[in-house]
Amino acid sequence: NDHNISFGTEESHKELGQLADTAGLMVVGSSSQKLLTPNPRTYIGSGKVAEVKNAVRALDVETVIFDDELSAGQLRNLEKAFGGDIRVCDRTALILDIFNQRAATHEAALQVALAQMEYQLPRLTKMWTHLERQAGGQVKGMGEKQIEVDKRILRTQIGVLKKELESVRKHRKQYRNRRFSVPVPVVSLVGYTNAGKSTLLNQLTGANVLAEDRLFATLDPTTRRVQMKNGKEFLLTDTVGFIQKLPTTLVAAFRATLEEISESSLLVHVVDISHPLAQQQIDAVDKVLSELDVASIPKLIVWNKVDKASDPQKIKTEADEREDVICISALNGDGLQDFCNAVQAKLRDSMVWVEALVP
Ligand code: GDP
Repeated sequence: NDHNISFGTEESHKELGQLADTAGLMVVGSSSQKLLTPNPRTYIGSGKVAEVKNAVRALDVETVIFDDELSAGQLRNLEKAFGGDIRVCDRTALILDIFNQRAATHEAALQVALAQMEYQLPRLTKMWTHLERQAGGQVKGMGEKQIEVDKRILRTQIGVLKKELESVRKHRKQYRNRRFSVPVPVVSLVGYTNAGKSTLLNQLTGANVLAEDRLFATLDPTTRRVQMKNGKEFLLTDTVGFIQKLPTTLVAAFRATLEEISESSLLVHVVDISHPLAQQQIDAVDKVLSELDVASIPKLIVWNKVDKASDPQKIKTEADEREDVICISALNGDGLQDFCNAVQAKLRDSMVWVEALVP
């Protein structure tokens, strides 16, 4: 079931599949259902529950992932319906799993831990009602009390984490201010996940950041120094990729990256132009950017993966007609010099280039 009209169920499932792959799972099948509103008990209808149950039993599946956020009750009812050994998880939990695997810095780890706790808080009931059932109803009410205790503990931990995050952030700001005293402009790569940002960074700097056909190959801001043939330099920062349905509870986990964007001299929006939904992805990124208060920062648009496009020549002609668009293939290195020249020109235009300031 999917409520996102612009992307459609098929595309959304494809992305969910890529996310599952990134999390290290092997996808064996997918299924969807059109409903006016999700079933409050099981999200999908009872007939669909039976159908999925048969399928997962036949295929010996370990995990069923739902492409939306499920309530505690829905998670519990679905696990009960499918049978105890099958794990039911929702899109949010899957993304949290990936964040957890990819959190490379202390700050990112704290943010992910915080998001995980906030996700768990309304879902704590699950474990305790389960125990009550096991005890044959003997301890009725005890579970409820325990849930309250657990919730209190979790809320305290959340408070502690938030304080720690605040202090880590302050620290980073100081560090960044120091870095900014070095007169090298900062260029941030932004874009939809899988657009090719890490590949571009790799190609330009020889930096050993992850570049693989997986979502969220980069979680933390990764900055590299790029030196051009004319000796001029800029810092290139990779940011975590946008996804189409980022659960609101995970927005905070992106903050370090987002804050970094707002302090850059230039934004480079990397687009996978070979993607059938390239325009929707561009819109999704632009929407997030417009919420980030970065409108005053100059932007360069990079159409990547031209080699993969059905009509590369047409794409190149279109890009030539637009002065803010550069066509590249990060994978085979096509257009990288044009890209560097365009970055340099944009930086010069925006007067942040060192020589424009120092006569
Ligand atoms: P990121 O999530 O934006 O950092 O994307 P990645 O750099 O990890 O790239 C995602 C996938 O797209 C990888 O499999 C890359 O090899 C592939 N890719 C990146 N750039 C190109 C390109 O110019 N052409 C083609 N064909 N594939 C590319």
